[in-house]
This record gives sequence, C-alpha cells and structure tokens, in this order.
Amino acid sequence: MQSKWSADEAKTYVSDYADKGVNADLAERTYTTRLLGRDPHLVLHGGGNTSVKTKAKDMLGEEVEVIHIKGSGWDMGEIEPAGLPAVKLEPLRKLRKLDKLSDEDMVNYQRINLLDSTSPNPSVETLLHAFLPHKFIDHVHSTAVLALTDQPDGEAVVREVYGDRVAYVPYTIPGFALAKAVAEVFDRHPSAEGLVLLQHGIFSMGDTAEQAYGRMIEFVTLAEERLQRQRKTLVQASLPKDLAKLPQIAPIRLRWYCA
Ligand SMILES: [Zn+2]
Repeated sequence: MQSKWSADEAKTYVSDYADKGVNADLAERTYTTRLLGRDPHLVLHGGGNTSVKTKAKDMLGEEVEVIHIKGSGWDMGEIEPAGLPAVKLEPLRKLRKLDKLSDEDMVNYQRINLLDSTSPNPSVETLLHAFLPHKFIDHVHSTAVLALTDQPDGEAVVREVYGDRVAYVPYTIPGFALAKAVAEVFDRHPSAEGLVLLQHGIFSMGDTAEQAYGRMIEFVTLAEERLQRQRKTLVQASLPKDLAKLPQIAPIRLRWYCA
C-alpha cells in the first residue's frame, strides 16, 4: 500500500491548527490519524486508535506531561483535536504497578485525569499507549495483518514476515491486563518498532508522526505481500480434509471494542 504522507500537508495542519491554539504534536497527530482512518485497508468501521505524548498547560498555567489519545465516539478519518483528549501521563504510568484493575475503575481513573472534563472517554487502549515510551503510537486492525495472525500457525507466519522488528503479544481482551502484557513484552524487546497482537491488530511506534505512520504502512504492506504469495501457493493446493472451525477463520472477536 502507498504512504499518503505529505510534508506540505503536515505543515498546513500545523499552521492551521496553531491559529486555534493547538500545538504541533497534536496537529500532526490529527493529520496522520485521519490518513489511517481514511484507508479502508487499515481501519474497518472506525476501529483503531492513535496517541501522542506531549506537554499541555493545566488551569493554573502549569505545564504537565499528557497523552492525547483517541476518544471513543470519534471516527479516525474525520477526527479533530477535540477527539484526542489530553490525559495526565504520570498518573496513568503509575497504574502499571497494580496487579489488576476493573474496566470501571480504569475508565473512572482516566476520566479523573482528563485535562478537560467535557472530553469524550479516552480509548479502552489508553493504558497500553501510556505504558509504552514512544511519542507517537498508531494502532489499527488491519485486515491483512489479521488474515496472517488468524491462521493456526499465525504466530510463526508473522514472525517470518517481521522478524525482530516487531514484538508479539498473545491474545488478551483489551483493557488493563492487555496493557500490562504489552508493556512486559516491550520491556523484553526494547528496540521493537511495532507490536503484533495476535488475533487483534498491529501497533507501530515512532519518534515522529511521520515515522510511526511510515512504519505502519510498511508493516501492512509486508503482510499484504505475504498474503499474495500465499494465495499463489494455494491455487495449486488440494482442499484440506478437515474444514477450519469458525474461530479460526473469523477474526471478529474484538475488533469492535477497541476503537
Ligand atoms: Zn485494538
């Protein structure tokens, strides 16, 4: 697939949003979130989320470290800065020391730490983004990546495609447990440029909006190329004796929950 990144367009976003008091990090985050969201190969029915870590001023004019994360109810393709609410980062990071946290407590805690109480609820994957150190993080439920991981030997196939550039995380329902599992996997693979969550989707990370987006395009292209080769092989193959069971061929378990 083609990268739609344009340095000129990115500059226009930064200057247009600067007039509205939006900083450059959030302006670029808005730009590449729309690029991802407008590509049907990457984002089905709004599923996916993005974040950027930056600084913002609180009510007292004091600078605080925040994460802007996609809010629920916003379509990535049409997102505005208001759809990427700012949550104080340090309190989120501290949650990692807990052993467990219910979804209700997690949502409540995230809301308590919003800079603007009128913001939408931060994504269910907020803690996953917060526990990783990268400035820009992109996440989609790419059909090509899912088609690779949803095979019985899915993990082996994605490892063959991405090698050490990506770290692999077993299937876990989105929420606190998944955020902790991802952080632990990343600790063991600190140079990973991306993460494949089996039967779920893919994350790409970067220092800049362009780098995180570029890696996503590259990773999804590699998955598409692998599928293409697989299809050619399958043309000559005979039909299997046993048909696959539904869970093996239907990657529908959670795509809808982690928008
Ligand atoms: Zn997800």
